Amino acid sequence: MPSVRAATIPNLPPVVRRFVQYVQIDTQSDPDAETTPSTKKQLDLSRLLFSQLEDLGLDAHLDEHGYVYATIPSTLDDGAAIPTLGLVAHVDTSPDEPGGPVQPFIHTDYQGDVIALPGDPSVTLDPDRQPALSDHVGHDLITSDGTTLLGSDDKAGVAVLMQLAEMLTDDDTPRPEIRLLFTVDEEIGRGVDKLDRERFGADVAYTVDGGGVGGIYAETFNAAEAVVTVEGVTVHPGYAKDIMVNAVRVLAELIAALPADEGPATTEDRAGYFYPHKITHGETGRAAVKILLRDFEDDGMARRKALVQRLADEAVERHSARVSVEINDSYQNMLRYIEASDPRTVSFAEAAARAIGIEPERRLVRGGTDGARLSEQGIPTPNLFTGGHDFHSRFEWNTVQNLQTSLDFVRALVRHWGEHGAAQSS
Ligand SMILES: [Zn+2]
Repeated sequence: MPSVRAATIPNLPPVVRRFVQYVQIDTQSDPDAETTPSTKKQLDLSRLLFSQLEDLGLDAHLDEHGYVYATIPSTLDDGAAIPTLGLVAHVDTSPDEPGGPVQPFIHTDYQGDVIALPGDPSVTLDPDRQPALSDHVGHDLITSDGTTLLGSDDKAGVAVLMQLAEMLTDDDTPRPEIRLLFTVDEEIGRGVDKLDRERFGADVAYTVDGGGVGGIYAETFNAAEAVVTVEGVTVHPGYAKDIMVNAVRVLAELIAALPADEGPATTEDRAGYFYPHKITHGETGRAAVKILLRDFEDDGMARRKALVQRLADEAVERHSARVSVEINDSYQNMLRYIEASDPRTVSFAEAAARAIGIEPERRLVRGGTDGARLSEQGIPTPNLFTGGHDFHSRFEWNTVQNLQTSLDFVRALVRHWGEHGAAQSS
């Protein structure tokens, strides 16, 4: 099975050609930078997208932060009766692994074997470790050369939306007005920090930033952070009997009392967790810990908050230490906002998947997304599959066929909104 430098293959489908072009532009974001975008190189791709959109004759805008906005007009006379549809992807790639220069390779007609990547043979694609590979026998896999991530997260979404824009320029099947949005710094949690919501102008939206084919992601964790601070009593340890209150011991006991089978390393799927992730003070006189609380259910989150408070109360009783608990919500499960504003965002995505012969699968996001923040702000924004796998790694991959499926899916979704979007019932 030949592994070929993607840039040398002449007859790639247009969406794959775009993908290959975009992944070669290093757009890694940087969590330590305070500017927007966090890295200037993200602008290299933003500028390219802006000029390609202008070349398509679209009304496009590149702002000083690197966000790219564009409008694809509706084909309907009464387009205004249908919600304006936002489609979102992010230009940056993860800071977790080297971000460039990316050398994309295509491994045609995959046979289910282990592939050593050409730039670093210690990096392999291995179906034992990456079971989704076994579902892709016969596909043409796309990877990096193994020395960098691939950046399918989220160049796949970028390529799909750009190819969609090109296809829709001479396509008059029914569709609402579409607002494209390419964001920066999503991987460092700031993807919508500088969003101009008025310019975006979408009523409903999707991020095209998900994983394997079929996945529709409408649920995130409820997330909160508890800060537990113990104030101890310090005194010379040789003369401390019945006087010293050692905040370090009190805090350690409290952390140890958190259920060990409810941590990030012991849970998956719908199970939430307690994650004491940082000791911020650790002295006899004062010790403090930050604990992340995660749960898909509201009552589960309430139970987690109550347990932290109870452990603190017990520490007060046992040690006559002063213990304070401060809990702040970080974000909410976005499903509630989606259901409150327009649940069709999910059912239409499922219908569009079926329309192209894909069985949709609702998947959970064990974290947050930019869509969660948009949903909270009143723009219901589920996340959609792109066909990519093993994000943020040097063995990240997508396939020629999955990119095409992802494009077909988003196109069917646009059409579904055009044909059925006017009958808003809520
Ligand atoms: Zn992403």
